Amino acid sequence: MSKRFIIKPWLIVGLLLVIPTSLFTAIELLTLNDQEEVIETIYTKQLESVLYSINQYTDDITNNWINQFYKEFHASDHQTTYEVPMNELAHVHSFILHPIDSTSLRFNNFIIKNDSLQQEIKTQLKTKQSDIQQLQRYIKSGYRKIIGIDLEYKQHLTMLVFITQEQNKPYLNLLLLDAQKFIGEALSPRIQMTAGDDLIIVVRHKKTNELIACSQLNDAPEEVVKEQAIWLLPDYNLGIQPKGISISELANNRATQNIGLLILVDLLLIGGAWLFYRNVNRELHLAKVKSDFVSNVSHEIRTPLALISMYAETLQLGRLKDESKRQKYYDIIYRETQRLSGIVNNILNFSRIESGRQKLSFSSIKINEIVDEVVSNYRYHFNEKGFEVTIKLNEALSPIRGDKQAITECLINLIDNAIKYSGQDKNIIVSSDSKGPYQYLEVADKGIGISAKEQKLIFDKFYRVTKGALAHHAKGSGLGLSIVMHLIKGHNGKIEVDSNEGQGSQFRLLLPIDNPTKKTT
Ligand code: ADP
Repeated sequence: MSKRFIIKPWLIVGLLLVIPTSLFTAIELLTLNDQEEVIETIYTKQLESVLYSINQYTDDITNNWINQFYKEFHASDHQTTYEVPMNELAHVHSFILHPIDSTSLRFNNFIIKNDSLQQEIKTQLKTKQSDIQQLQRYIKSGYRKIIGIDLEYKQHLTMLVFITQEQNKPYLNLLLLDAQKFIGEALSPRIQMTAGDDLIIVVRHKKTNELIACSQLNDAPEEVVKEQAIWLLPDYNLGIQPKGISISELANNRATQNIGLLILVDLLLIGGAWLFYRNVNRELHLAKVKSDFVSNVSHEIRTPLALISMYAETLQLGRLKDESKRQKYYDIIYRETQRLSGIVNNILNFSRIESGRQKLSFSSIKINEIVDEVVSNYRYHFNEKGFEVTIKLNEALSPIRGDKQAITECLINLIDNAIKYSGQDKNIIVSSDSKGPYQYLEVADKGIGISAKEQKLIFDKFYRVTKGALAHHAKGSGLGLSIVMHLIKGHNGKIEVDSNEGQGSQFRLLLPIDNPTKKTT
């Protein structure tokens, strides 16, 4: 017969969950450095965009001022020339408005009293001629660009140059401002707000490295991660630096954190996969055990039924003249009926336990009496199978509270097992005694014994040891010991097993001497 290929549950779990996630984590670990670099780049880009936003803001407020100025200018008497006193230069609204000759860029009416300043402005404007022409082209297409020029005349004096169009005539506008004051008054609040708790933003003079503004009082960093010139104030640099830890540390932390999370998720997945595998395995095992149970029980029922029907038929035909033989047949029928009712009892007990309907009715019982009754009922059985049974009872035991029927069934199960699992050495000892707060019944045999590993499992429902020829051939449902365990627990008692493979077993049912009366379990 060809062996069918069955996909094992662990293979499914491995293929579907564990292998892909572990591979993914391995790849992530291998590419940790690349990831750090990517994170670092992204982060640096983000810092750049923060600086960009401050630059944008600088442009916006400057444009707003200019618009504001024009509003006021149109409301006034449309002078084309302003004289700006030098002591007002510090003020951001200081303006020189001047018409330009669009072709030659000659500056008429240039009223700045200070000659050297006037000279510097003129020189600067000349050198920037091509830029100014560009500004003119821009304004024609509706875009007012501003350029900033640092002046030597006075420290922090910056000239903003832009062109406006008045009645189709271009005007060159010069705005002189004190850059330090401008940054301090107009940009600082914004810088402060943008930096928040995580960043430090500084403004320094490009050439002198003089600190003009810093979002963090008294603690301006010397080194910054990213620098960007202020568009309107080209001699000033905006610098940005994350607070506390460096950007590569940050990237490293982030990458390690991600990997940590990934490993955690992997572990959870593996844990889940293991649980899933265990459950599937358990279900498969249970399914197998149940099907074994059905076939075992059917077999167990069929054998006595076949015997009963065979002997009953022979008797019914009335052909048996020999009275002793007839008696033997009756005995066999009786014995098989007993065996059948034992099996049916076990199944009924089990179903009652499973559905929670098992009831114990407690009364005063003497465990020695139970031993006597069960052993005498089994006497025929023992003799027939060649068993030597020794009974060792402690006659001094006083009555205890318990369910007689239940304890009887427990003892029958133990004796049944002792018979089933004995080989050549057919010796059974049934004893009773007391131990601490318990009285106990013990059934000892010299049979095949149970391995330490199996001892933990034999009380599970349907569990049967199938290793070894005798255990394999012995018939049973795997329910006996699980029922015994349940009934003994219902008495607040416990079961002890001493067993060695090949040497025999002892099962001890311990029942509390002082048992509170229990009605149900
Ligand atoms: P079963 O119907 O198979 O006897 P039980 O629940 O009574 O079911 O026992 C469970 C298993 O424990 C048995 O299949 C057997 O392997 C093992 N076992 C029980 N009693 C003994 C014993 N006295 N000696 C050896 N093995 C035993």
